[in-house]
Amino acid sequence: MKKKVYWVVTLCHFLRFGLIWATPPFDGTIFIDSNIITSDDPTTYRSLNYSGTGHRTMYDRRSGWVDLEPFLFDAKFSDLHLVEFQVNPEFGSVESAKAQAERFAPVIGRLPKCLLTDVQTVWIHMGNEPFGGGNNNLLIHVGQADGYVNSGILEETLVHEAAHTSLDGAHAYAEKWQSAQEKDGGFISTYARDYPFREDIAESFLPYFAVRHRSDRISADLKQTIEITIPHRIQYFDSQNFDFFSGVGDLWSKETDLGQGWKSLNWLGIYYQHENNWLYHKGLGWVYPFLSDADSLWIYLPKKDEWVWTKESIFPYLFHSFSAKWLYCVLNEGDSTIYKWEGNVWAKW
Ligand SMILES: [Zn+2]
Repeated sequence: MKKKVYWVVTLCHFLRFGLIWATPPFDGTIFIDSNIITSDDPTTYRSLNYSGTGHRTMYDRRSGWVDLEPFLFDAKFSDLHLVEFQVNPEFGSVESAKAQAERFAPVIGRLPKCLLTDVQTVWIHMGNEPFGGGNNNLLIHVGQADGYVNSGILEETLVHEAAHTSLDGAHAYAEKWQSAQEKDGGFISTYARDYPFREDIAESFLPYFAVRHRSDRISADLKQTIEITIPHRIQYFDSQNFDFFSGVGDLWSKETDLGQGWKSLNWLGIYYQHENNWLYHKGLGWVYPFLSDADSLWIYLPKKDEWVWTKESIFPYLFHSFSAKWLYCVLNEGDSTIYKWEGNVWAKW
């Protein structure tokens, strides 16, 4: 990877240029309310797969760009590409590194979907340094994370950083965004005001999300302050038709983790979660499931080379759309039989 200028947040540094604009209501928006996203919110995170160690160039705020041999984990999220977690070898063992990846992956799965579209990797280091966003990455220092957890703003901080990663590129210099900045005539925070290109999108997005999707969790005063301060930016974000919640609360969110890759859904049964989305289902064998919508599945059965459709309320019935026939499976471990409805009798499929 080429060494790039790491162009994102240092939350603690505020350069003051003087009050050209109206005084912003906040210093920084990650602090405005710790309940905008909480650890009780659903996550799209599904599983983690250790893929070994490998050479990676990572950014570490303690030392800058470093070439390391981190522990690597592929994290799977509903309705999203795999995200590679690169955990600094200083954590010492696969188990300790995995514990760190497992700590942050569910948190990242709680962020609005539109903030994750460009997140390809996550760097995790020790140290008490600010987080970062950009470079198709989220940068985490676990010492600082403890502080964010104590303040209840771990999710809110990651919203800020992920907005850098997934929104800055398309929006920070967009003509319509700059026009919204001008029409608003002020900034939501001094941090955004002091870095109007670098920080305004990231600083404005969390308040926007709070107003549009968490207005029941923030005070009426806070909501009004945001709406009065950045009405044109709110309008700009509205016009983007962002995807906030696809994958959240889908049928996978109800699965139980049985450990070591085994999972279950109370209606589908027990299965082993393999990488690349293949499942080894106790009963059906290897299958490839694909979400049809939030609560129904297309399932590819390689033994038959056929796709079937099903959902919780109809399983173990399956619908074979190619023949437009209903199927019924009698599940036995290693010896399941699928029947098809032939007019007035069930025959083996
Ligand atoms: Zn920032």
